Amino acid sequence: MKKKFAAAIDGPSGAGKSTIARAAAERLGLLYVDTGAMYRAIGLAVLRRGIAAEDTAGIEQTLSGLSVTLRHGPKGQHVLLNGEDVSDAIRNDRVAHYASKCSAVPAVRDFLLETQRSIARTQGVIMDGRDIGTVILPDAEVKIFLTASVEARAKRRYLELDARGEHVTLEGVRADIERRDELDINRPIAPLRQAEDAILLDTSSLTLEESIAAAVGIISEKLGVQL
Ligand code: C5P
Repeated sequence: MKKKFAAAIDGPSGAGKSTIARAAAERLGLLYVDTGAMYRAIGLAVLRRGIAAEDTAGIEQTLSGLSVTLRHGPKGQHVLLNGEDVSDAIRNDRVAHYASKCSAVPAVRDFLLETQRSIARTQGVIMDGRDIGTVILPDAEVKIFLTASVEARAKRRYLELDARGEHVTLEGVRADIERRDELDINRPIAPLRQAEDAILLDTSSLTLEESIAAAVGIISEKLGVQL
């Protein structure tokens, strides 16, 4: 079977990966795969069982008999935990914290690796995460390391949460982002880092539309598509 086209987008929390990758995939006719949602689903499962985020053995036990799958429909990606659609339930900071802790456990990464690779075997994808270009799809045709300064990421996230009516402060949001960066960058297994052959895209001073256009430009050049 001919290898399908794959673009890997990695980078820290809050850099706009999912918004940019989703929009780029739509414009280029590729499937958008958000791997963070799978780690969040595992985080949710652990949280629901009342297991502490630091309890590695408890996290490993949670994996047995667990199923985490993705379904792609007209409204985009849905993540299913043992068949239950948890796409909305995983979108909060508590689950994000659990996801980050769980993602440092090697058994969790092994558990998700094959599912992620198998999606890219059957369809052309833009897959986003932390280790897509380095571990999951090292042969991806395009690798983008999407980042922005901590200030820019905190400000965007703060405005987003504030608009949703959540009571947060800019300092609190910034501290949260720094904590997750620290966990993702310093874990011994599949740490967040730019692949050697990845293109660095810093969106600190770009608007969302400019960031999407930049990502589409990089990917379409490799795809051989003129938009
Ligand atoms: O991208 P998102 O914020 O939804 O990811 C949640 C957490 O899952 C991240 O903080 C990161 O620790 C982890 N993650 C990962 N590898 C991926 C995607 C996400 O370790 N490929």
